[in-house]
Amino acid sequence: MGRIAYLNGRFERHAEAFVHIEDRGYQFADAVYEVWALFDGKLSDPDGHFARLERSLSELQIDMPMSRNALTIVLRETVRQNRIRDGLLYLQVSRGVAPRDHAFPTTPTSPAIVITAKAIDRATAEAKAAKGVSVITVPENRWGRCDIKTVGLLPNAMAKQAAKEKGAAEAWFVDDLGFVTEGASSNAWIVTANGTVKTRDTNANILRGVTRYTLLDILQAEGISIDQSPFTPAEALAANEAFITGAGALVLPVVALDGKPIGNGKVGPMASRLRCLYIEQARATAI
Ligand code: PLP
Repeated sequence: MGRIAYLNGRFERHAEAFVHIEDRGYQFADAVYEVWALFDGKLSDPDGHFARLERSLSELQIDMPMSRNALTIVLRETVRQNRIRDGLLYLQVSRGVAPRDHAFPTTPTSPAIVITAKAIDRATAEAKAAKGVSVITVPENRWGRCDIKTVGLLPNAMAKQAAKEKGAAEAWFVDDLGFVTEGASSNAWIVTANGTVKTRDTNANILRGVTRYTLLDILQAEGISIDQSPFTPAEALAANEAFITGAGALVLPVVALDGKPIGNGKVGPMASRLRCLYIEQARATAI
């Protein structure tokens, strides 16, 4: 983790940055977050992440703590102070501090803002992508508003832990109808036997991944056939390839599901190509 964190208007040493015990993010998960991939110290997919932040906040009736422009300056300054080139930038905005009561405070609170940044070794990330990762499935057990990017991530954390215990990098939630919804921290995709790239639509109870949208644009520009509909784990096992997308994963090939190989069990050409195309575009459009 970088050495400097931004906390409510000040840059502080990371080890000494603390939030209040009655912050509603801490007590009720009454907070939203965003994560940007950083390329050469710049924020990837800026518009998508800002738009989703504004939407998440508005769904919870929390005010944007500052304008997009001001926030961009603070986010970039956090990156600069931590001297990060490739990495991840984390922003959390909670409703703020108030005496503990479930209903929103009647006296207006100031949203509490935390920003941290951490470096990622791209060579290690590329080596991981070249090998591909394993995924497990877990029953969907999250609330009905996964479209809001809140910090209420306990089911996601438990799913990720279950994956880790089985030597997998991600867990895919499977709903009551037997369809994959999304990963614990990524969107789920397959490449079918006829070369169509499939990911489920966002009318479902999933996060509207910013990487997902950018990749859909890339697929369209490349003339690759897209199917935005749900798929089952059995379809994934019968697919040529699978991969996940997210600010952390970027486009990360998946080679096994629940211990069984997908396709020939090796990283496929489509996932590798899409990873390159995504990184190229994200670098070019980062601010
Ligand atoms: N789905 C979930 C549950 C996530 O937590 C994330 C990212 O953190 C994603 C999907 C991918 O979203 P994005 O591409 O915006 O990072």
